[in-house]
Amino acid sequence: MADAALIGIDLGGTNIKAGLLAASGRLLERWSVPTEADRGYRHVVGRLTDLVATIQRAAGRGTQPTGIGIGVPGPLSHRRGIIFGAPNLPGWVNVPLRDDLSKATGLPVSLENDANAAAFGEFVAGAGRGCTCMVLLTLGTGIGGGVVIDNLLVRGVFDSAGEVGHMIAVLDGRPCPCGQKGCLERYSSANAIAERVVEAVADGAESLLAQRIRRGDEINSGDVARACRDGCPTAKRIWAEACNHLAAACINLQHLLNPQRIVFSGGLINAGDQLLSPLREAFARLNWRVTNDFPELVFATLAEDAGLIGAAALAKEQCA
Ligand SMILES: [Zn+2]
Repeated sequence: MADAALIGIDLGGTNIKAGLLAASGRLLERWSVPTEADRGYRHVVGRLTDLVATIQRAAGRGTQPTGIGIGVPGPLSHRRGIIFGAPNLPGWVNVPLRDDLSKATGLPVSLENDANAAAFGEFVAGAGRGCTCMVLLTLGTGIGGGVVIDNLLVRGVFDSAGEVGHMIAVLDGRPCPCGQKGCLERYSSANAIAERVVEAVADGAESLLAQRIRRGDEINSGDVARACRDGCPTAKRIWAEACNHLAAACINLQHLLNPQRIVFSGGLINAGDQLLSPLREAFARLNWRVTNDFPELVFATLAEDAGLIGAAALAKEQCA
């Protein structure tokens, strides 16, 4: 499979995104269809199978796909090809997606955690190009992550490495749906930042967003970023705390893994320098001076394509 075209799929709770990638790794064409996850596992496998058939029909003679890489929200086992459970895919408990999809399409399938797939996508074709060690942090609803060391994706013994968002930022801190307390994603994800401002206002803190929050309007991290720029003391405090926790996590990752680049993706990166500048300042303030081995802190460049490009690239690694 090393020199053949591949299909990359990014399976989400709302949409299935797919791409046909040439042997060179170039994305030739992309597709997106609704997942219809509420209709159950079998139905979604049917939709995936139909989509693969559509791609095969569209592919030219020289670009017939010979394998499929699929990124799925975990937890899952890459080695066994089983999804243990996915929050946005109701009823998907211990489902053997790799073998079911392989049987239905007649093609080999490689199953990967979606955050790992996105990390590998950025590594081979995006912000990680040209380096050998990279960490990706996706700052969105939660915080996802993926680690590439010496050109290889790090999966760990139970395929659960790279869960950067569930590293502890505050011992016994804010409860997390994962069962722990004080996870990084409960402070530094886009959702957590907005949630913490809403909580502070409920506790009587002064904020430029107070009126909207009391009216019941939904507040997002973009609103908080704007309120910071307008001088809101509560927004500024919570934003600074989020950046400090994130910087501490990145410095810990630096000492553990010595990556060349730490790449950020997800909704929070829309804040641009408002996110990167305090991270860089915290690095300058907190990091050691023993050696000059700072990673570059950069934004992802592939946006929504990272997952499907990475899934295909990992399928290539797997099946070559
Ligand atoms: Zn957690």
